[in-house]
Amino acid sequence: MRDDPKDAASAPHDHSLDPSDWPSFRTAAHRAVDFGLDHLQNRRDQPVWRPMPPEVRARWAAPLPLGPAPLNDVLDDLAQNLLPYGMGNTHPRFFGWYMGGGNPTGAIADFLAAIEASNLGGGDTAAAAMDTQVCRWLVSAMGFPDAASATLVSGGSVANMIGLTVARNAMAGVDVRRDGITDLPQPLVFYASTEAHSANQKAIEALGLGSRALRLVPTDADFRMDLAALSAAVTEDRAAGRKPACVIGTAGTTSTGSIDALNALADFCAAQGLWFHVDGAIGAMLRLSHTHGNLVAGMDRADSLALDLHKWFQAPFACGAAILRDGQRHFETFNLHGAYLQEMPRGLASGPFLADYGLDLSRSLMALKVWMMLREKGVAPFGALCDHQIGLAQRLTQAIHRSQDLELVAPTVLNIVCFRHRGRPGMTEDQRKDFNIELMLRIQESGVAVPTDTTIAGHHSLRAAIVNHRCQPQDIDLFVAALHQTGAELLTAA
Ligand SMILES: *Cc1c(COP(=O)(O)O)cnc(C)c1O
Repeated sequence: MRDDPKDAASAPHDHSLDPSDWPSFRTAAHRAVDFGLDHLQNRRDQPVWRPMPPEVRARWAAPLPLGPAPLNDVLDDLAQNLLPYGMGNTHPRFFGWYMGGGNPTGAIADFLAAIEASNLGGGDTAAAAMDTQVCRWLVSAMGFPDAASATLVSGGSVANMIGLTVARNAMAGVDVRRDGITDLPQPLVFYASTEAHSANQKAIEALGLGSRALRLVPTDADFRMDLAALSAAVTEDRAAGRKPACVIGTAGTTSTGSIDALNALADFCAAQGLWFHVDGAIGAMLRLSHTHGNLVAGMDRADSLALDLHKWFQAPFACGAAILRDGQRHFETFNLHGAYLQEMPRGLASGPFLADYGLDLSRSLMALKVWMMLREKGVAPFGALCDHQIGLAQRLTQAIHRSQDLELVAPTVLNIVCFRHRGRPGMTEDQRKDFNIELMLRIQESGVAVPTDTTIAGHHSLRAAIVNHRCQPQDIDLFVAALHQTGAELLTAA
């Protein structure tokens, strides 16, 4: 048909993806904004999470569309089949894993970032200047010196990968970029506590060092890295001809929120000539709190810091950052330009080349959501949110202390509460685990709240991470009531 010249002449094909009718597109776009904001504004009245009915699931198995559809129909599909069946992390009573709740300002920012459309890999653009500005803000907010560098990445996992890559290259004793890890004179050893996030192991595996290069150091009763055990492990590795390279401290572990003794780790690394990396995916934001900033004292002494902006900071997914104390080393680890990407004295290619600081070449203006949230609100509310949620976690902890049927499994340090239902007297550990899993699943399916679970020192535990900025004291009370009631129902049913 398209080859028919008569047809082509009568209906010229415009290959642009822009709307053929801008006014009606604009109406549809406004509708998308409206149902999107309705969804957020009324979020509290909806179930936290609900299972997808089979007909909805089937929609997501529809084959590749060969023909067009009116944009309004496409939007209907999203309003009916996507938004109601999300993870639930926009809801005040989402307590699963450790997720930020997003926010409308950040969502508009993501829209405008897509409209702006610059590729942040390199080029003299206002977008690159904004990214650089946000990186400088993060460096200063985290208490790092001017010579430090930062790069925005998709999250804590990649941020850890960036920091650990610079650490590996700095500690290798050979030119890893040229010669690779096969030329390492001694095997490198990295240390993290048994409570460290799996992203660190993944990074070390991807760096070609093997998971055996990560020694998991036991923790003390408060789930902080045991310093004596760390010291013994380093001594043992040296004696065995291995090269201790890097200690990974965690500022806010994922299971319990415990914070390693960061100043002591910094002292230890300085004395032993080791790289000090901090995984601050959860706890880095505490620096913004006047009341709780002292919990992460020493974090600013790290050689590299990974942080997340889509967790406690509440930026919509995805955004994290890596900060390197030595910006030059950071640059030397990743800078590389193809023939098609040479720096020019003037014009578009006069820089900055942000890709010199990470693995991504092309990336979006994720800085815009961080910039816009900070510009609109200033930095103070983000620290105050940490304080508020630590208070909510204390409220939940107190309710658990007062109750007959619930008990804590770990001390509450931050906004994470680890607890379990006692079940029935005489239950075995396995029976109590099954009981708690059933309790968790029923509460998830009821739509009232979403807790998840973990294992702490071999004990199964339910877990509530209070990260959603919409959560209020009454949400904690409702959650506690649901735990009591569902627990009692389960006990009578069994
Ligand atoms: C969430 C988390 C990560 C991984 O971050 P992502 O943003 O999910 O990639 C790493 N470390 C800790 C401590 C975390 O809690």
